[in-house]
Amino acid sequence: MSQMFQLYRLQQIDSQLDEAQERVLDIDRLLGDDTALNLAKTNAISAESILKDAINAQRRAEQNVGTQSIKIEQTGATLYSGKVRNPKELQDLENETAALKRYLEVLEERQLEAMFAEEDARKINQERSIELALVTAKSAREHKDLEEEKASLQRDISRLENERKATTNSIPDGDLTIYEQLRVQRRGIAVALVKDNFCAACGTTLSAALLYEARSPNKLTRCDTCRRFLYAG
Ligand SMILES: [Zn+2]
Repeated sequence: MSQMFQLYRLQQIDSQLDEAQERVLDIDRLLGDDTALNLAKTNAISAESILKDAINAQRRAEQNVGTQSIKIEQTGATLYSGKVRNPKELQDLENETAALKRYLEVLEERQLEAMFAEEDARKINQERSIELALVTAKSAREHKDLEEEKASLQRDISRLENERKATTNSIPDGDLTIYEQLRVQRRGIAVALVKDNFCAACGTTLSAALLYEARSPNKLTRCDTCRRFLYAG
């Protein structure tokens, strides 16, 4: 195999390694990002707490109505017991009953509002619970897929690393050093393909002499502009 082909092969391996390693980093980021799940949890907890408060408020409102009704009954019982005969006292009792009844209406109104509020809170709580269940299931599915993809990428990476080792063994150290430097300087691409008559990496049109050189099997040719190795295939 030609020297140039070995470098080109190395470039292909490195590009695949770069891509796989980058994807593994992406996956790690995605696996560590629980924003959606945490939001759904927070919403569910908050809705549950609001419902609990609404239930308590509704109970208190109901008790207040009950207590007020008992007071009215008791005042009424005293009023009609025949025990109170003094007209002034009777008048006071009647006034008190009327006042108690007026306030009962207020309390009943509040109870009704508390019932509606509880109903709303119950509905929202149910929606949030369903949402949390859906998000949890979706997140579990996504995590499983990502873990599988990561495992497969890690197998690819270790295979590529072995291939890389075998390939670099047959490349002279000097060429390898230039290759590594170009990889750093040229965003990971040290070997450019020759497409028609130009360098596919930087787009420069290559001279006829350079094209001829690039096509000779055992010569290492580099682009005049980007200095990358040229592989004519
Ligand atoms: Zn170039």
